[in-house]
Amino acid sequence: MTQGDKHPVGERYIDRTEAPVRASGRLTLILLALSLLLLVGAAVYGLFNDYRNMLDREGKATANLADGVQVYVTETLRQSLFSLEGVAKDLEGAGDSATADRLAALRGAMRYDPASAVLGLRAAHDLLMVDGSGQRLDWPALKAALDTALTANSGRKLAVLPVVYVAELHDWYLPVQLDLTARVLGVDAAFALIAARKLVEASASVRLLPGAYLSVVNPDGYRLFQYYVDTQAIKGEQGRVSPGSVAQLRSGKLDSFQAVSSLTGRPTLFGISMSKQLPLAVSVGIQLDVLEQAWLRRSLGQMLLVLVTSISGIYFALRLMTASRKERDYLRRQEYLANHDSLTGVLNRYAFQRRLRQCLDEAQPQPLVVLLLGLNRFKEINDTLGHLAGDVALAEVARRMQAAFGTEAGFVARLSGDEIAVAAPLRACAGGVDGLCASVAAVIGSGITVDGIALELDASVGVAVFPDDARTPSDLLRCADIAMYAAKRDMRSHERYTEALDHYTAASLAMKTDLSQALREGGLSLAYQPKVDLASGALVGVEALSRWVHPDKGAVSPAVFIPLVETTELIHPFTRHVMGEAVVQCRRWLDAGHRVPVAVNISVNNLMDASFVDMVRALLAQHAVPAGLLELELTEGALMRNPETALRRLAELRALGLKLSIDDFGTGYASLAYLKKLPVDSLKIDKSFILGLAGDEADKRIVRSTIQLAHSFGMVVVAEGVETQEVADLLRKKGCDLVQGYLYARPLPAADLAAQWLEVVTDTGG
Ligand code: C2E
Ligand code: CA
Ligand code: CA
Repeated sequence: MTQGDKHPVGERYIDRTEAPVRASGRLTLILLALSLLLLVGAAVYGLFNDYRNMLDREGKATANLADGVQVYVTETLRQSLFSLEGVAKDLEGAGDSATADRLAALRGAMRYDPASAVLGLRAAHDLLMVDGSGQRLDWPALKAALDTALTANSGRKLAVLPVVYVAELHDWYLPVQLDLTARVLGVDAAFALIAARKLVEASASVRLLPGAYLSVVNPDGYRLFQYYVDTQAIKGEQGRVSPGSVAQLRSGKLDSFQAVSSLTGRPTLFGISMSKQLPLAVSVGIQLDVLEQAWLRRSLGQMLLVLVTSISGIYFALRLMTASRKERDYLRRQEYLANHDSLTGVLNRYAFQRRLRQCLDEAQPQPLVVLLLGLNRFKEINDTLGHLAGDVALAEVARRMQAAFGTEAGFVARLSGDEIAVAAPLRACAGGVDGLCASVAAVIGSGITVDGIALELDASVGVAVFPDDARTPSDLLRCADIAMYAAKRDMRSHERYTEALDHYTAASLAMKTDLSQALREGGLSLAYQPKVDLASGALVGVEALSRWVHPDKGAVSPAVFIPLVETTELIHPFTRHVMGEAVVQCRRWLDAGHRVPVAVNISVNNLMDASFVDMVRALLAQHAVPAGLLELELTEGALMRNPETALRRLAELRALGLKLSIDDFGTGYASLAYLKKLPVDSLKIDKSFILGLAGDEADKRIVRSTIQLAHSFGMVVVAEGVETQEVADLLRKKGCDLVQGYLYARPLPAADLAAQWLEVVTDTGG
């Protein structure tokens, strides 16, 4: 597994961590909100329950209170009743008693009566009364009051009557009346007055709630008197209790209940107790709102607690939410950073590889083109205009690439430094790989202005295609990288990956071994292709082209093994070998009487070799071959790579008397203006412009202007790859000097060449 096949850091970070964090954040929030709801709900329920309990408690307390007061009132009144019974018994059966007898009976009863304030007899509207000390009372106001009160009573044996105000005593008294009409001759009734205040003594334990009162009522619901606990006021106005209270009374249930008080008109909690011995009941009423207020005051703390808890809970939840939002934003930012290049905003290497993998992992992956762009001379921009300008230019290039190729199916990334990668489905590329490369060149080529300075940018593009070249993202990138370096080396706008470019495959390593063996053991040979004068058709020289027949594989194309040689140290022995062969061959032809100039292809690394010139000089000297018969072919790329050294070497070679020519012209970037400075004799137009010349207007224009300019610099123009007469005619019309191509001859073994061409030369020339 290569490095790129592992999961990149960014991917792990995003796909495996972020989603759970998001989910757990949401879960926390939901849990929090739920527990908050529960908390508030429990608190409210607690309060509500507390309220109900309070009502319950107060109800029971009120009922108990009513009961207590009732028992006390009953017991007190029974003492008075006992006195009245005593008086009745004294006078019973004694015939028409005298006032003195009656007074004596009253006084006798009073002596044992701690409850009654007044005891009296009523006989036909005449009232006879004694006070607690047995003193006869003759108070007119009292008499008047009692007159009405007692008269109101009729038909009952025993009656407890509404209170009367005794002006002489400045207070209210409750009359109890025992009907004697049937028992004592001449006497209607015996009665006792009991201080109302004394009766309610038992209510001292009633809590001092404002508005709390107790009523003593008769079984029909008529009030005998009221006592207001907080003001300690007794009121005697008559009236009936509320219908609800009457119903309760009638039902005989001694309990608490809620009803609207007919006295205050307010909802009130009542406790009622009915006397078993006397026709009376006691009710205690406490206003509900008063109770509620008291309860509220008590519960205020609790409510505050609920409120504070809720508020702090909400605050906490909000804080948590902001925190989790911040965390999400942070993660999103991290995700972005993990996937994007910070300078240009396009994808980074990891994201690019991941998207590539997604494309390749599809059920039926589509053929895909991966382009790797290396900006040429980008270092110059950085060096001359500063890194900031370089960054601006890079960002602009990335932006344009993104705009042009960042489609639904295509994507753009900056891999490092000045390297930008593009991936696009092959079917989406108009004009195939070449079309895609042309549009990349067009996008980059339209000038960029940085700091007011117009920059001309171009790029070398390496192309790798899935599935032809590689099947994994990292291999695709590696192939594109290799192709890009080949394009850079050869100063070409783009290069498609071939295995020949790849010096690190097992196959190419084996081939390298085999090649060096062939080099040692003489497995290599040379073929010679004639260069022909276009005007006369005469042979003007040959180009030596290497041939290798592999023991197992058979003939191997130079397009395969030359790149292997050129990128390793093999290039030095290889070129020495080729050059040696060519010079030896040249010597043989000389010996046979033919002056045949031989052209040998050399590589840029040969030019960089300090001993190269000496080697050439020694070879020529060794075989006594005139330097003028040896020509060296160099590609423009080779000349541009290290221009100073190249120029120096070329000058040295030229000084030896060698001929120099520029090979494959038109595929690189060298301008003719630059080439003009070079000490070269001829220029070979690359066969890609020649092969289809007859049908391509653009090629025609390029060829025509190249010929014109080269001529104006004094160079000889060679067209290579001439396959048809039509092209040859066209080239002749345009003024091309020499041609090379299958139309005239394929590269031939030396013997064949001699047989087919040299005799002719000898014949015509001799
Ligand atoms: P090149 O220097 O451009 O050589 C010309 C190539 O074009 C040769 O391919 C030749 O066979 C081919 N050619 C000639 N006429 C025609 C034509 O009419 N139509 C077509 N389609 N092709 C034609 P070859 O021999 O396969 O060589 C390929 C390349 O290998 C050469 O391109 C050259 O760059 C390199 N090469 C070959 N031998 C040597 C060598 O000894 N040393 C170095 N450094 N490079 C070599
Ligand atoms: Ca050549
Ligand atoms: Ca060539």
